[in-house]
Amino acid sequence: MIYFDKVTKIYSDDTVALEDVTLKIEPKEFVSIVGHSGAGKTTLIKMILAEDKPTKGSVLFESVNVHKLKDKHVPEYRRRFGTVFQDFRLIPGKTVFENIAFAMEAAGRSDDEIASDVPHVLDLVDLGRKIWSFPRELSGGERQRVAIARAIVNQPDVIIADEPTGNLDPVNTYEIVQILKKINDLGTTVVLTTHNKGVVENIGKRVITMEKGRLVRDDKEGRYAI
Ligand code: ADP
Repeated sequence: MIYFDKVTKIYSDDTVALEDVTLKIEPKEFVSIVGHSGAGKTTLIKMILAEDKPTKGSVLFESVNVHKLKDKHVPEYRRRFGTVFQDFRLIPGKTVFENIAFAMEAAGRSDDEIASDVPHVLDLVDLGRKIWSFPRELSGGERQRVAIARAIVNQPDVIIADEPTGNLDPVNTYEIVQILKKINDLGTTVVLTTHNKGVVENIGKRVITMEKGRLVRDDKEGRYAI
C-alpha cells in the first residue's frame, strides 16, 4: 500500500505544489490522477519514488517511511517501481532488445533470464516483431510500448505512468491505456497521471482529481471532473 499522510510540498521558491494530501492506494489498484498542468501530479509521483522529500507529512510504502530510507537502500526501493514517462526515455543507440536487456542487467538478472524474458514482455505489448529495431524506426505508440515492456520486465509491484500518452494521438493513447489495464489485470498496481480527461473517461477505475496541489475529488469508477 502507498499512503500519503497529510503531505505538503513547498519548493524553495515558495511554490506550494502539494497541500495537505492524504491518499491511500491499495495493492493491485488502478488509479488515475488527473489535473491541469501545474496541479502537482509530477510532484506527487516524485514523492512516491523518493526523488524529493515532503515539506510536511509523510509517505509510506508498505509501512516503510519512504523519506527515511537510507541512501544505500533507495535504489533497491526504486526497483519495486516500473516507470513510464511522456518522452519514452529509450536509449537511441540500442535496439528494442538491448533497451530492455539493459534494465534487466541493471537489476542483476542473468543472460538466460534476459534471453527468455525480453521476448515475453514484448509479446505482452504486442511488439515481438520489433525486437531488433532501433527506437528511431518505431512510431510514438510503439516506443511507448517498449518503455512499458521495459518497466514491467523486472516485475515491479507498481507501474508509475506519468503522462504516458502526452505525446500520442487518440488511437495510440487508447492502446497504451488498454496495455496498462492488462498489466493491472495481471496483478500489478498502476498509477497513471494525465491532464487529458479523454484518457481516463472510459477506464472505469478510480480517478483522483487534483487542483492547485490539492486532491479535490476521488471517484471510485470515476470520470474526470474539472
Ligand atoms: P503537474 O505534474 O500536475 O503539471 P507539477 O507537480 O509538475 O504539476 O508542478 C506543481 C507546481 O510546482 C507547479 O506550480 C510547478 O511550477 C511547481 N514546481 C514543480 N517542480 C518545481 C521545482 N523543482 N521548483 C519549483 N517549483 C516547482
